[in-house]
Amino acid sequence: MKIKRQKKAKKTISFYKYNFNFRQPFQILMDGTFCQAALKNKIQIKEQMPKYLMGEVQLCTTNCALKELETLGNELYGAKIILQKFQVRKCAHFKSPVPASECLLSMLEETNPHHYFVATQDRVVTAGLKKIPGVPLLYIILNTIVLDKPCQTSQDYVQAVQLGELVSPAQQQSICSLKEEQGISQRDRERRGKKRKRKQSNPNPLSCLKKKKKGVPTPPLKKTEEGEKTKRSRHRKRKDTTTVPVVTNT
Ligand SMILES: [Zn+2]
Repeated sequence: MKIKRQKKAKKTISFYKYNFNFRQPFQILMDGTFCQAALKNKIQIKEQMPKYLMGEVQLCTTNCALKELETLGNELYGAKIILQKFQVRKCAHFKSPVPASECLLSMLEETNPHHYFVATQDRVVTAGLKKIPGVPLLYIILNTIVLDKPCQTSQDYVQAVQLGELVSPAQQQSICSLKEEQGISQRDRERRGKKRKRKQSNPNPLSCLKKKKKGVPTPPLKKTEEGEKTKRSRHRKRKDTTTVPVVTNT
């Protein structure tokens, strides 16, 4: 069971490495909800995270996430102690903190340029990050950390790139103007037009073969002694030749 979980994680990590350029040390952006769940389930984040992700990690959070834990009082004191130990990344809310969920999502911008993994139990954050391609999600369930499989947005994005649909408008424009400059685009079209015309050629020789006469199905090969088998097949051949219609000139 444990091996299977690790295998799945490995596959998911390679997906992000290959398609979204994730590199070690992996940046793990965390909030209070994740720390709280870790505490409840007796998970040592600092120990478990690098093991599970099979690589070096950088655990971090934001000032807003810390501030939110402070205001939530004693119940989350333990979570706050854990979260405080991690690096605090600069967010845009230095003067007036916003809810942790809002802050974490803002850290991802539109394309997750800092390659954050997000570790959270917060549903608002989870739903929000699934709209952004290339954001790995970590959460805790049944006493273990789980790396979620890539969401649909990420998969769609990768597919679009592979199909060559995702070329920025600027790139598209320069490609077009370059083509026109060199007169490639017109020639291209002409060549393609020619290709589409089908060459007149001789019919497929296979379609010219004489049709086998119906009503004389070839009997299935019987498994018999070797010597006998060859004799029989020869016999059948002879029989077949007699059924071929003879063209006579009259
Ligand atoms: Zn913030």
